[in-house]
Amino acid sequence: MKLTEIPGVGPKTEALFMKLGINDCESLTRYYPLHYDIYNEPVPVGDALTGSKITVKGTVKGGINVFPAGNKKIVSCEISDGSGSLRLVWYNALFIRSVIKKGCTYYFRGIVSVRRGAKVMDHPEIFQIDQYEKNQGALIPIYGLTKGLSNNTVTKAVRAAFKLCGTSDEYLPEQIVRHYALMDEKEASEKIHFPADRDDLFRAGKRIAFDEFFFFILALRMLKSEEKDVPSDFPMKVCWETEDLIDALPYRLTGAQERVFREIEADLTSGKIMSRLIQGDVGSGKTVLAFLALVMAAHNGYQGALMVPTEVLARQHYEKFVSLTESIQELAVRPVLLTGSLKAAERRKALGEIRTGEANVVIGTHALIQDAVGYHDLALVITDEQHRFGVYQRRALTEKGRTPHMLVMSATPIPRTLGVIYYGDLDISLVDERPAARLPIKNCVVDESWRANAMRFLEKELLAGHQVYVVCPMIEENEEIHAENVIDRTKELKKIFPDFSVAMLHGRMKPEEKNRIMTSFAAGEIRILVSTTVIEVGVDVPNATVMMIENAERFGLATLHQLRGRVGRGDAQSYCIFMAGQMTEEIGERLLVLNRSNDGFRIAEKDFELRGPGDLLGIRQSGEAYFKAADPVRDRDMLKAAGELAAVIMQDDPMLTGEEYAVLREKIRKYISDSQGQVIL
Ligand code: ADP
Ligand code: MG
Repeated sequence: MKLTEIPGVGPKTEALFMKLGINDCESLTRYYPLHYDIYNEPVPVGDALTGSKITVKGTVKGGINVFPAGNKKIVSCEISDGSGSLRLVWYNALFIRSVIKKGCTYYFRGIVSVRRGAKVMDHPEIFQIDQYEKNQGALIPIYGLTKGLSNNTVTKAVRAAFKLCGTSDEYLPEQIVRHYALMDEKEASEKIHFPADRDDLFRAGKRIAFDEFFFFILALRMLKSEEKDVPSDFPMKVCWETEDLIDALPYRLTGAQERVFREIEADLTSGKIMSRLIQGDVGSGKTVLAFLALVMAAHNGYQGALMVPTEVLARQHYEKFVSLTESIQELAVRPVLLTGSLKAAERRKALGEIRTGEANVVIGTHALIQDAVGYHDLALVITDEQHRFGVYQRRALTEKGRTPHMLVMSATPIPRTLGVIYYGDLDISLVDERPAARLPIKNCVVDESWRANAMRFLEKELLAGHQVYVVCPMIEENEEIHAENVIDRTKELKKIFPDFSVAMLHGRMKPEEKNRIMTSFAAGEIRILVSTTVIEVGVDVPNATVMMIENAERFGLATLHQLRGRVGRGDAQSYCIFMAGQMTEEIGERLLVLNRSNDGFRIAEKDFELRGPGDLLGIRQSGEAYFKAADPVRDRDMLKAAGELAAVIMQDDPMLTGEEYAVLREKIRKYISDSQGQVIL
């Protein structure tokens, strides 16, 4: 049903919804909240804590004043409740004067900070007394928005969408629903938006997680059952050239790298199609394994491709591959780089070489699987940081009906016992050892009061010739979210370190610009790189020894661990500074986990423990999700349950042809067509 059938949604609002990927009523009902707000119990004005969002109930004392401040106007007033008083401030919001009245009492909700020794609440929301008390304790869905679309509009539209198109009926047999104590599907799909309380939200979240896992696993199995144990059209032989490369490396392979490469070799020479996952923590040295496999394919007379999620990483891998291989005469590798930002002529040249087979190692981004790319005899496809690639992409690479060998490299920690369910029939190799020569990274968890020390520390490292990353959660200033941003931080650091070149990197920059910055950082010309988490994925600059993460409390521990993995890659001692914008006991304890452990999997588990199974209120970490609502660590009980059920069904009727599976079959068909490119492998 079309969105415009919802009362109040016209073509303009429809267009905004489309921007968020919502095309009809059905997809709107599955546009889950990012997190939930709670109208908390108010705290006494005198006890107002700084840092987190709180509510106070107070009476407006004195006048409501307007001050100029630069080219802005500030509206300000003072409130009190007998326990103390507090200044409230709004920027550029003159209308506030007609919303609140002197002598009247309201609820105010916002973040308090201390300025010039006095407590101030910035931009508080204002509620009439009855309005607030009615909502107190309820969970309010907060959606991802786009400019021009308010949370209120989305909330109303979601409610209306449920009325209009209803929800589908339960597709699982009743005894299954009961066996796993699941909430009914219909109920869950509404409650995830509008839970009555935390328990409701918890149970709805579990049910949605179950469905997401279940469809994912079934789809995966159905797609894969077609290609299991299939003889390969690209049989290979063991070759000497890989040994030449190993000998020429500036280091010795670790035992784990050696073992995993032998596993790859055994797969490629087995006569069957390889489907292997290499799982290894950041810095465990996965890239060289990909290079060895590419050399092996090339020396067997085929082409191999390495696909990565970002331009920056593609270029870096390409350059590294070239520099590692060009000095070895015996190697007949002819690498080529293919990314979206190549100039037309370069692109034409690259495509030509790929088509004729002149290039036998192709390194690049998604550009590798576009229609215009015709391969000569693509025998091996490797994807780095696998979560961005999907089944369909693999299909796209299946040339002339010949399926290439597949190698997937990932640092995403998955609970080990669940790996099999999660990755289906992939064989898994673990790179569970770090290069020995590395000094462990020194970590510190600090707050703003330590900033001056941090700057002195950065200076010391810079003077020693090293480089520094500074990561911020936001690109630019945002009035709603109080967090450090790349643009302002870059300006400040330029002032603080006039003698060192400072540059920024973020996702809204053009690919060419990003390449230029990253190349020049890798070359040591840029000394301080201020960035968002775009650098999280895979880049390798061994001379960078400091990673400073602003507002570390805003990132998930897994992300922080990945970020930290950007340093500690060379011989020098490296450091990671987790700067917390606000420090509470809870935040401190969470961040200290990183201090104590350097094992990605342990960290993910600990994060889960600290958040507790009942916590569904955190903002979901974007970008790293295969699932819209489910979290494989938090919801591992559901992952296990879904895996069990899928196994039973696949045993019974692998193609779901039976009458009793009709509804399920239809659902899976829709799931597969909806999730183009998001289902991994
Ligand atoms: P990741 O597993 O995170 O992809 P990389 O492959 O980027 O890790 O390797 C991290 C760094 O370690 C690189 O600078 C790489 O050259 C280096 N490296 C890889 N293997 C070894 C080894 N066996 N000994 C020493 N350094 C190594
Ligand atoms: Mg890597």
